[in-house]
Amino acid sequence: MITAAKDISDEAFLDAIRTVHRVRWESKGVTAETPLGTDNLYWIGASRWDIACVLEGHPEWCGGLEATDGESVTIPEKIVLAKAKRLIRRGLISGCGCGCRGDFQIRPVLPAAAPAPAPVPAP
Ligand SMILES: [Zn+2]
Repeated sequence: MITAAKDISDEAFLDAIRTVHRVRWESKGVTAETPLGTDNLYWIGASRWDIACVLEGHPEWCGGLEATDGESVTIPEKIVLAKAKRLIRRGLISGCGCGCRGDFQIRPVLPAAAPAPAPVPAP
């Protein structure tokens, strides 16, 4: 049961972001085979509500889809945001933890900066 941000592991949160992207892309007909640059392959960030649905075990609720039986997410939004803020601070995800949608994404691991070029000796 999730009652605090510490109850959500880093990997569970990152996995939830991946799942949101997959579910939402699939809902638009995008698959792994869809060529890049295709019009329907557009960026979709994972909102805090989407992530809560996945953490709750209901990825099918992503994108604002309502449960037909009136069941809904019970994880408090502030806990999802608190966990997101920690991961943003640590550089693991990008997005905004202010209380808006969030649009969380897993941050790519950038290659190390190239070493500075050696100074050119004076002629
Ligand atoms: Zn914001």
